[in-house]
Amino acid sequence: MNSEFKKTRELRFVCPECGGNLLGALTSGDLDILHVYDNCVITWGDLRPDEIRDYYCRGCGYDIEFGECDGIVGWLIAHCKQDESEAGQSPEDATDAPPADES
Ligand SMILES: [Zn+2]
Repeated sequence: MNSEFKKTRELRFVCPECGGNLLGALTSGDLDILHVYDNCVITWGDLRPDEIRDYYCRGCGYDIEFGECDGIVGWLIAHCKQDESEAGQSPEDATDAPPADES
């Protein structure tokens, strides 16, 4: 009955250093070597990553670090401007008023 189901949206990556949009990942895993030719051409099958060690910007190598509970999804939402207009939700609007001095 809930018509407002959550739609999957693609998150954008915008590098805070160079402004690039290409995200890379360092993984460890294995892949199948299908054919090796004597002209140094090697063809391989699908990569089966078992662990992503690191995310980084493909443009400048900026290393993305996030807390364990955050993950890449949380990082992208927190650090990259996503294509979503949420007017009036800007945290910059809140004034950080110092606590009144108690005397
Ligand atoms: Zn970059």
